[in-house]
Amino acid sequence: MSRILIVEDEDSIADLEKDYLELSGFEVTIENNGTDGLKAALGEDYDLVILDLMLPGIDGFEVCRRIREEKDIPILMVSAKKDDIDKIRGLGLGADDYMTKPFSPSELVARVKAHLARYERLVGAGQKTNDVIEIRGLKIDKTARRVWVDGEEKNFTTKEFDLLAFLAENPNHVYTKEELFRQVWNMDSVGDIATVTVHIKKIREKIEYDTSKPQYIETIWGVGYRFKI
Ligand code: CA
Repeated sequence: MSRILIVEDEDSIADLEKDYLELSGFEVTIENNGTDGLKAALGEDYDLVILDLMLPGIDGFEVCRRIREEKDIPILMVSAKKDDIDKIRGLGLGADDYMTKPFSPSELVARVKAHLARYERLVGAGQKTNDVIEIRGLKIDKTARRVWVDGEEKNFTTKEFDLLAFLAENPNHVYTKEELFRQVWNMDSVGDIATVTVHIKKIREKIEYDTSKPQYIETIWGVGYRFKI
């Protein structure tokens, strides 16, 4: 049974979410402030977190960021303001999904199920002896460091491969160019982030059908990139 943590300070909303999720067979725990929510998320074994943005104690932005530093479980953020959704995206906190209040409980349940299923697939894929990521027509063999697009092998340089593999392993997370530079080039970025742009362009030329409408690596204007699944 999947365990879900709700971090929400409005009791009526938290109870409603809990009722619907329990009816769908989930085990649900509620924490009503950011401090306890973060402690529970990090200290216990939850499969998914539903995280309100405005919380007493530590706010949802910070809770999300700190969970993501240690765990890759799905995080679904909820907020009363539409503007906040853009802010959450822009900050690249690593949330997997966003919902604006009020939302229908059945939509929440549907999204929770979708994220859990996706996460289980990713975790399952990571446990194979061949460390292979397959998304639509793209196949990345991390063990052999080889890439195929629709069955046709493409040649990648070391850094192109590292960048593609990193993005594909962390789908739907928005990364800034600075973050990608640090991740892949393993040093502190000092204004050399143009390298990232150049590598993204080369990767797209190899994996995208139409580089002007990328289906894998999406540009988030003014922020960075994300791998779409
Ligand atoms: Ca709140």
